[in-house]
Amino acid sequence: MLNVNRRVFLAASAAGFLARTLPAFAAAPYSIKHGAFELTVVSDGHLVLPTSFLAPDAPPAERDALLKAAGQTGEQYNSPTNVTLIRSGTDLILVDMGSGDRFMPTAGKLWDNLKTAGIDKAKITKVIFTHGHPDHLWGAIDELDELIMPDATFYVASAEWNFWTGDNATRGLPAERAGFVTGARRNYAAIKGKMKMVKGGDEIVPGLRIADTPGHTQGHVSLELVGGDGLIIGGDALIHPLISFQHPEWKPLADHVPDQAVATRRKLLDRLATDRSILIGFHLPYPGVGTVERKDRAYRFIPAV
Ligand SMILES: [Zn+2]
Repeated sequence: MLNVNRRVFLAASAAGFLARTLPAFAAAPYSIKHGAFELTVVSDGHLVLPTSFLAPDAPPAERDALLKAAGQTGEQYNSPTNVTLIRSGTDLILVDMGSGDRFMPTAGKLWDNLKTAGIDKAKITKVIFTHGHPDHLWGAIDELDELIMPDATFYVASAEWNFWTGDNATRGLPAERAGFVTGARRNYAAIKGKMKMVKGGDEIVPGLRIADTPGHTQGHVSLELVGGDGLIIGGDALIHPLISFQHPEWKPLADHVPDQAVATRRKLLDRLATDRSILIGFHLPYPGVGTVERKDRAYRFIPAV
């Protein structure tokens, strides 16, 4: 199993290498107003991942039908990476920092895309990390391990920090992903002096709160923004526009604590459908903004655009 995954993963990386010659993602940034907040979703590019990662435990015929409906019939698929920027009063708050330049050549486009959108990254005052995976955290530092935004304050969930820096960091991870731990520790070490530990319920600025959504990783968090029917920036709790909503019980290989991730997905989906809140999903089709409704004893994602 691990060897097969490793081979597919390496093949995906090779595909990513070929994609290096393609132009960077150039869609116009997507902006919405929500209560007192202004939000802009900026792409960090995309990941190239093995399709088999999405739901290895699912009945193959059902899984293949859903993948086909999502246009994903090959061994690999492109997973978008949507970074949200929040303007709140005098604060400019970034949610996750993308992959940087050491993960996949198709990702790490955030700084270029921010610049194209006319946003000066030096004006960003706060960064909140949903979790410590490479596509969310590794953009914190440059090729010399120096902070991309040395003046910002960084918010990290204490459970996530404890997991990646603790002795059990490789537990639940396929062996070939031990590099994730090295990378997380390198980035966390760089932000340590400018970091605030947070937990579920903590308010970062008025109306913006941390919500515990564990399972994808041990300390994975989402963000709740008050206003209208509410808005949730869901990180990687819901990673696929069909599978995560129609089959929240299927277990993507990327989830560290699979049963807990299933419980979190169910709770989050129920809440989103009941409250009619807006969802922003990091890996949903760009810009990843939409709402959720109940459908056939499960759920459906309705993209805003
Ligand atoms: Zn991710």
